[in-house]
Amino acid sequence: MDTINGKIKKVSTRKSKKVCVPETVVIKNSRISALDSLSCQIRQDIINMLLEAKSGHSAGPLGVVEQYVALYFGGVLNHRPGEPDWAERDKVVLSNGHYAPAFYAVLARAGYFPLEELQTLRKFGSRLQGHPHRKKLLGIEASSGPLGEGLSQAIGLALAAKMDGKKSQIYCLTSDGEQDEGQVWEAVLLAGKLKLDNLTAILDRNNIQIDGYTEDVMPLEPLKEKYEAFNWHVLEVDGHNIEEIINAISHAKAIYEKPVLIICHSIPGKDVDFMEWKFEWHGLPPNKEQAQIALNQLRTLNGRIISEDS
Ligand SMILES: [Mg+2]
Repeated sequence: MDTINGKIKKVSTRKSKKVCVPETVVIKNSRISALDSLSCQIRQDIINMLLEAKSGHSAGPLGVVEQYVALYFGGVLNHRPGEPDWAERDKVVLSNGHYAPAFYAVLARAGYFPLEELQTLRKFGSRLQGHPHRKKLLGIEASSGPLGEGLSQAIGLALAAKMDGKKSQIYCLTSDGEQDEGQVWEAVLLAGKLKLDNLTAILDRNNIQIDGYTEDVMPLEPLKEKYEAFNWHVLEVDGHNIEEIINAISHAKAIYEKPVLIICHSIPGKDVDFMEWKFEWHGLPPNKEQAQIALNQLRTLNGRIISEDS
């Protein structure tokens, strides 16, 4: 990382000249990596989008940021933001469509569309619908909203890539609450049978869903062993450790004749103290006062970093 007197001079942008990332942060007491700094900025994007939209989901998107940053900015995804329909690209299916604020913010920061467009989230006529709409925005591989369908869509893409002799990797971004859907387990069964080693599911294990904690609503554990029994290779990582996530995604590419599940243990509402671990924030946006508190906390990581002008 390029630093001068503790300041991050420039954030690494491996995939696109159009990426838009924080210029500098001043580090106090600890080093914050460039991608951690980017994650902090994306969380602020999410709060600003939700405040403007006056509707949408807070807890899940705030908790998943490092997972998406690792995938899109960690040098593991083969993509071209300036040419989103490039035939040889890896493909990403966002199955839990309500994570759209995090997904859109990462796509914008990666250069798929202008940052200013983030403020149109959920507006009438916007390309940024509350749940992703494939025909409205390049970079979205599948429309989503009804939960549990993305893995089936990703299997279709993975199977097609193999039939076409392409080396593309297919990623399915999913979550723990989605595992309650029966279709997920049909897909898990099929992917194992087909030995789809070009398929990686990245599961946000934040332990909440819309109306409670996952183990109260529908116990999922032992999740790892369940997938393994269906012929998947399973990795578990700290969902906020970008290096761990990047390593797991790289590891997944080397697995032969098995699809891979990466379970990312995360904190819902990450870095906003009144949202963390609160399932009540699953589907709520912050009001103006709450957003201001959240932004203040995110800008400083609760005192761990200070802004340039302070
Ligand atoms: Mg969840």
